[in-house]
Amino acid sequence: MMKLFAAVLLMAAVVNSQMTCRLKQHGIPNEWVGLRDTTGKCLQEMRNQVQMEINASNIYLAMAAHFSRDLINRPGFAEHFFKSAREEREHGRKLIEYLSMRGQLTKDVTELIQLIDVDVKIDSGVDALRQALELETKVTQSIRSLIKTCEKSSPSWYHLSDWLITEYLEEQLTGERDLAGKLSTLTKMMDSQGAIAEFLFDKQL
Ligand code: FE
Repeated sequence: MMKLFAAVLLMAAVVNSQMTCRLKQHGIPNEWVGLRDTTGKCLQEMRNQVQMEINASNIYLAMAAHFSRDLINRPGFAEHFFKSAREEREHGRKLIEYLSMRGQLTKDVTELIQLIDVDVKIDSGVDALRQALELETKVTQSIRSLIKTCEKSSPSWYHLSDWLITEYLEEQLTGERDLAGKLSTLTKMMDSQGAIAEFLFDKQL
């Protein structure tokens, strides 16, 4: 048991050391790095957003796995959440690429993505849609806050704010509306048709 624990610790150390760039800068000019923020808040929130997107991806993956179980067997819900998981991972990747493009990933990336436990418990299709809508609402609030912080930072990161509004806010708002619509339809179907409604709704997804 102790050997296994030591091996895990060693692996963690190796992974961490691989994530940190130890190359010297060799006097390469860095004046082009425009994202200079006196408080550092915008950059920190941007890095937090990467983590939030990856967490959302893992939560959707767990939901997809739940609906894929033989005892649950809702292939429509499973596919819907597998797709959501892929989209969230892509959101995280795009944020990382933006940070790289602005010269913000030249040093340490060890803390950019942390592994966290995913605790997902689902009672029904309605419950899953409600949880997904709550999750997306939190993500939207986080992106709004990020945009505000980066606009207010000195100097203002106006290119980043514009990019976030165009690339992220639009998709968040349409995504929330889509989930709210699905939740409304399924809830009404369950009220009038009972348990068979979830089976029929799954076929539509
Ligand atoms: Fe997202």
